[in-house]
Amino acid sequence: LFSGVEQAPPDAILGLTEQFKADTNPRKVNLGVGVYQDANGKLPLLRCVEAAEQRMVATPTAKGYQAIDGLPTYDTEVKELVFGAGSPLLAAGRVITAQALGGTGALKLGADLLRQVSPEAKVLISNPSWENHQALFTRAGFTVEKYRYYDAQTKGVDVDGMIADLRAAAPGTIVVLHACCHNPTGYDLAPADWQRVIDAVVDGHLTAFLDMAYQGFAQGIEEDGAVVRAFAERVGSFLVSTSFSKSFSLYGERVGALSVVCADAAEAARVLSQLKIVIRTNYSNPPTHGAAIVETVLGDPELRAQWVEELGQMRDRIKQMRTALVEGLVAAGVQGREYITDQVGMFSFSGLTKEQMQRLRSEYAVYGTDTGRICVAALNEGNIAYVSESIAAVLKD
Ligand code: PMP
Repeated sequence: LFSGVEQAPPDAILGLTEQFKADTNPRKVNLGVGVYQDANGKLPLLRCVEAAEQRMVATPTAKGYQAIDGLPTYDTEVKELVFGAGSPLLAAGRVITAQALGGTGALKLGADLLRQVSPEAKVLISNPSWENHQALFTRAGFTVEKYRYYDAQTKGVDVDGMIADLRAAAPGTIVVLHACCHNPTGYDLAPADWQRVIDAVVDGHLTAFLDMAYQGFAQGIEEDGAVVRAFAERVGSFLVSTSFSKSFSLYGERVGALSVVCADAAEAARVLSQLKIVIRTNYSNPPTHGAAIVETVLGDPELRAQWVEELGQMRDRIKQMRTALVEGLVAAGVQGREYITDQVGMFSFSGLTKEQMQRLRSEYAVYGTDTGRICVAALNEGNIAYVSESIAAVLKD
């Protein structure tokens, strides 16, 4: 049966981690992963999460099945976080939200739903994009193409190129957009640029799919949510995937959600009925624990305030590390890297070539992806000088 099955290539990022683990250099630094680490290089357990879990342990519940679309109170909290508690769309019953297995699970639910609704549509993702976008939408049956995004010359977004590509797209084309903290580049659109994107989406009858994997990591929870609100004001139907992997440091719990904005409440009910079939035929219903943690935190004013504070600390530490990296590079003799502080989120497109990234790995045991992406959230006081000096060394010769 399986004799003809070919060996699939290893996952690029996980492969890098394997290589990192096997590296015996005591100074090794892993900047390849997409995981936030604290000032001590540790994956944090947020205090709000710990407190929520303690409450849950104190009041144990039986482990029944959840509803197909997940914990209802969780879905409501997510809606309010993403669209704003006072959103007229929520009041009109135009938004459906289903708990999903992380941001990836949310994207896959959305992809499967869209494939059913518009099987002929193409998908456009940014160039470059999170590598799983291409694979996930391809697996869902779509042809995936790219719109221009990163401009290596200006170290920013090629907004005109992006808009031109969106305007050239056929009606119904699905456009995957990073709502904030673009992965891998770290460059986001300015509010005025987002209006141009929305113009292109509305004029071209495109289907926008906002991937929100880092709400709160760019400017703040409300500020980052503004992109979704801007779409809500002007676009009739669109999708939003949410991930709490980073913002709650709940990676392995697989907590996310898919929200779908519909024309009216009746349409929303019909779409939800179809989405439930997608879920039911994949994994029947989602797990309880992670969503219960998030729901407990968001539903309790004290824990929520603690979360806002802890998320702010993660965001601020990343910003400090960006500044420290630029300063460390200057100290090591490398000028002109101020653009690193223009970027937001966990990642930085360092501007290094594939060869330089490979030398960083083989000669200095500093691991980033071949694209030049490094995880700023993995930098700390203990490794930043070494990383800066290593980057300076591969840039010099
Ligand atoms: N979208 C983007 C842009 C991401 O960077 C990630 C995580 N690396 C995801 C989605 C998936 O998030 P999750 O781990 O919650 O599945």
